[in-house]
Amino acid sequence: QQPDDHLKERTTCPYCGVGCGVKARLEQGRMVDVEGDSDHPANFGRLCVKGSALAETLGDHGRLLEPRVDGRPVDWEVALSETASRLQAIRAEHGDTAVAGYLSGQLLTEDYYVANKLFKGFLGTPHLDTNSRLCMASAVAAYKRSFGTDAVPCNYEDLEEAELVVLVGSNLAWNHPVLFQRLRVAKARNPLMRVVVIDPRVTDSCELADLYLGIRPGSDARLFNGLLTWMADRGRLDPVYLQRHTNGFDETLAAAREAVSDIESLAADCDVDAERLETFYYWFSSQLHVVTLYSQGINQSTSGTDKCQSIINCHLAGGKIGLPGAGPFSITGQPNAMGGREVGGLANQLAAHMDYDSPGAIDRVTRFWSTPELTPTLPEAPGYKAVELFEAIERGEIRALWIMATNPLVSLPDANRVRAAIERCPLVIVSECMTDTALVEMADIVLPASGWSEKDGTVTNSERRISRQRGMLPPPGEARHDWWIISEVARRLGFGEAFDYSHPYQIFTEHAQLSGFENDAEHQRRLFNISALAELDRAAYDALSPIQWPVTAKAPLGTARLFEDGRFITADGRARLWPVQPRGPEQSLCNDYPLRLNSGRIRDQWHTMTRTGRSARLMNHRTEPFVEVHEEDAREHGLVDRGLARIVSATGEMRARVRVSPAQRRGELFVPIHWTDRFSGAALSGSLFRGLTDPLSGQPESKHGAVRITSL
Ligand code: SF4
Repeated sequence: QQPDDHLKERTTCPYCGVGCGVKARLEQGRMVDVEGDSDHPANFGRLCVKGSALAETLGDHGRLLEPRVDGRPVDWEVALSETASRLQAIRAEHGDTAVAGYLSGQLLTEDYYVANKLFKGFLGTPHLDTNSRLCMASAVAAYKRSFGTDAVPCNYEDLEEAELVVLVGSNLAWNHPVLFQRLRVAKARNPLMRVVVIDPRVTDSCELADLYLGIRPGSDARLFNGLLTWMADRGRLDPVYLQRHTNGFDETLAAAREAVSDIESLAADCDVDAERLETFYYWFSSQLHVVTLYSQGINQSTSGTDKCQSIINCHLAGGKIGLPGAGPFSITGQPNAMGGREVGGLANQLAAHMDYDSPGAIDRVTRFWSTPELTPTLPEAPGYKAVELFEAIERGEIRALWIMATNPLVSLPDANRVRAAIERCPLVIVSECMTDTALVEMADIVLPASGWSEKDGTVTNSERRISRQRGMLPPPGEARHDWWIISEVARRLGFGEAFDYSHPYQIFTEHAQLSGFENDAEHQRRLFNISALAELDRAAYDALSPIQWPVTAKAPLGTARLFEDGRFITADGRARLWPVQPRGPEQSLCNDYPLRLNSGRIRDQWHTMTRTGRSARLMNHRTEPFVEVHEEDAREHGLVDRGLARIVSATGEMRARVRVSPAQRRGELFVPIHWTDRFSGAALSGSLFRGLTDPLSGQPESKHGAVRITSL
């Protein structure tokens, strides 16, 4: 019997960005059950179906149990030495920037921090990006442009306190189910609360909708530009807020007017009923307490940053921010997309919310990471963002790639091209939990990593709340924690003095110190600051309760809401409205590919199903890859409900079961992202989308493919 038997250990769910607290019951060294943690402020005891099935998804079956080099099992000493020596050989022959890393929002903050420090600090390459690029990079770019920093102003209570909640590009009911449960309860308690759903598909989130706008895909910025002009024309702006706390309103309004004519034309552009559109505008403009919640439906676009911006513009113009129940609220997809942003895991970031062009940042981080014997050599400029990174591999510019906790063969657009790029990369290192993925088969070096329930560290959820994920079970076989693997490779590269960690609390406190390091100059202040946690000892770290950053001497209990004083992190302290010229999707429809393809998650699965696919009850929700089709499209293309179809684009194809659905607009299809060729032979939805990205954020356009469909 294990010493921890029967205890209920507290940890955090590893799936979506809600970041629910979980209590796990252990018996005889196994996790036998989980329940929601009633003390966790994200969920107060609730769990969705994925979270409540966590105990069913564990076990050694399918786990990667030993390191491998060139397909042969080896011990850790060989694996680590080979990793270090092969990386070093490529650096010596092709330079530091021939090395790249590709990380994941599934990693814990401590793993992320150590990886960022190794690649950008000591390997001297800026090419370290993350699959979070696919999730919320557009939201980050727009927040930075408007607020001077990447900071989500709201919290989950704001959703409950709002008089109007606008869900746009977000199927909250399926993708953030516990938040949807909280919204449902809040709406039942407050009969005056209204919910508006803006989405091309009629999703389960419409259950709460007082108003549904089934817009044309990609017309979101046009719709919010229209809202801005509507508010201006009817005297429904907040001139005092605009005058005291913002810049850029006049040019922003002028640009919106250029793009918007009368309400009928606007409604026709967005393909919605004009009266319903005006009802939304009226509701938005007549309430102060409005939360607009958005997710991948907004972000995953070649104009994602501008779409986010058009939402932020309306909130700033109406003074609907920095108040209870008000603000533009981007919800992250992954459990630690936010934590990755904090450490600098995006290629355009340096560390701790400092960018390459932040004044003095390169020098500051260099000094912070220096040891008596070692001085890091930080790059001078940002690296390649996810899609660019794989293009650089294709060109032969990047010759060594270390992928951790993600499978770009499945998740990136233009998946066949990504596969070809990885195949031609001379050195591919993969840190992974599971053994039977195509990526593992392609890797030169495979490093078995520990997973949820084994790892110790922190994650940050969508409301900036840092929570502990706790290790309670031993990793199987030879699996090791990611921070340990990275540190051991760093040691073999000669950087051991800077990576002398024996427990993740040391990494977390170093990260907390960096967040507060020289973070005091008013004109250069960084909002991400958790310096009040920098002195935690191991026991205090183990016991850390969920807390929202900033956590400073002035706010030792954390900060629930940002910008309450109307001061932003720009040079003059004012928020910036930014003109938006709406642009449609870049993947154009044509005779060969006449249908618009949307993609997304389903309720009971997570990413590539390596965990959720192990639970029979989760698999029961949808048992196979499918494509949802409007009934008239089905008729036109010779499809029958429950029949098989082949979906083809200029870049790839997928086979799937047809579901004729009244939720689909005419001319549009929906496919789930989860199934890989491991399951069905040919169900890689990522292969159907071209690798087109937003020019500012680098986020791919994974909601706007151009395809044709035929019956099989
Ligand atoms: Fe986990 Fe998200 Fe479900 Fe919460 S809502 S239990 S974080 S999947």
